[in-house]
Amino acid sequence: MKNNILKPKYRGIPQWFKIPEHKLTATNAIQTLPLPDRVVIPLHQHIGPPSYPVIKIGDTVLTGQKIGDSNEFRCVPVHATISGKVTDIISFKDVVRNKEQQAIVIESDGKDKWIDLQTVDDPESLSNEEIIFKIREAGIVGMGGAIYPAHLKLTLPKNGRLETLILNGCECEPYVTADHRVMLEYGEEVISGLKIITKLISPDNIFIAIEDNKPDAIEHLTGIVEKSSLDGRVTIVPIKLKYPIGARELLVKAVLNKEVPFSGRCRDISVLVHNVSTAKAIHDAVIEGRPFIEEVITVGGGVNNPQNLLIRVGTPVKNLIEYCGGKNVNVNQIVLGGPMMGSAITDLETPVTKGTRCLLLKNTKVKAEQDCIHCGNCLDACSMRLNPSLLAKYSQSGRYDDCGEAYIDDCIECGVCTYVCPANIPITQYIKTAKQQLSLME
Ligand code: SF4
Ligand code: SF4
Repeated sequence: MKNNILKPKYRGIPQWFKIPEHKLTATNAIQTLPLPDRVVIPLHQHIGPPSYPVIKIGDTVLTGQKIGDSNEFRCVPVHATISGKVTDIISFKDVVRNKEQQAIVIESDGKDKWIDLQTVDDPESLSNEEIIFKIREAGIVGMGGAIYPAHLKLTLPKNGRLETLILNGCECEPYVTADHRVMLEYGEEVISGLKIITKLISPDNIFIAIEDNKPDAIEHLTGIVEKSSLDGRVTIVPIKLKYPIGARELLVKAVLNKEVPFSGRCRDISVLVHNVSTAKAIHDAVIEGRPFIEEVITVGGGVNNPQNLLIRVGTPVKNLIEYCGGKNVNVNQIVLGGPMMGSAITDLETPVTKGTRCLLLKNTKVKAEQDCIHCGNCLDACSMRLNPSLLAKYSQSGRYDDCGEAYIDDCIECGVCTYVCPANIPITQYIKTAKQQLSLME
């Protein structure tokens, strides 16, 4: 037995815990951010082995040109997101992934001159291997927060199959409305991507899960599905909004009433979950030949004009804040990601990377951390049925191996334990630190 810590049997569907939604930008149509003069493209924006530069300083590059890759199939390449000149390859501290990494700097020529895009009219004309290759070459990562390589998720083991596909349109974190707008404004592309995923894995059952606070998205995608070749094969499931129901393990439980095994994956129970924006990216790559160089992000909180923006990857956050009218005087913290799961940044030159769905400006009152009073709030609130208090304690005292034994890998970093802790213990931050230390020990 591991440290006498019982392996949890069931995850809970978050039943009682509801945080304020603050979906203030839900009706704001996506605006395109003007192109930046300079982008910084990190070489490692995914889970798996990093990419390496395939260009050198002084090269001129086109928008969409591959600038980083490796021979590893598990690697995800990166691309130039503007046309111009490679002026530097720098080392920078990636606060979101909490690591030092290399990044390629491109100065714009102001022309946004693209590579030739290889379009495809009918994905049925392509073999599954050709589609997987296109998805990898386009550099697509999971947009639900996991930044897992999309091509790996869609590669089935030999003679293996997945029975159920769930397209995840749940966007439960407060403030974030990027996926909501993508479903409304790029619904055709989302369903086209769903068709491509369906061709790749031939599931028996297809669900689209959308929270019930987005009735317009439910109606819109229902209409598109009914007019598509998927009509009759897809069930659209309204999901009751309870944070963090968008996490795939919890979503599988909510939609199918099945448990993803602890320390396991959805595919262990023959299920694949893909985010709606990832489906759109798959459409863009396979049908339009477009690499993953831009994404929709919500800029919210203490800016004068909160928006949903279509931005090029590698754009500094200061450009987003300026476009949204600048920050309010009370802002004292800037977070990449949502209020529950995001990471605070101090440098406004920090580039927005793949999979970032929110830039949030906050007024945070710093409260002194106190000793645990053993109230049990964090245990009650953890939908993954972990012991957050114990994980924080182990992390604080450097007992990282014990964190591993206490199923730290099952923590989805939802931030709920920190939110409910009356002793102001930054439990999730302690857990993130322990995970980082454990990854360095591997
Ligand atoms: S962040 Fe806290 S509440 Fe969320 S899964 Fe991890 S331990 Fe549980
Ligand atoms: S919520 Fe905070 S104070 Fe209460 S048991 Fe958890 S860590 Fe301790």
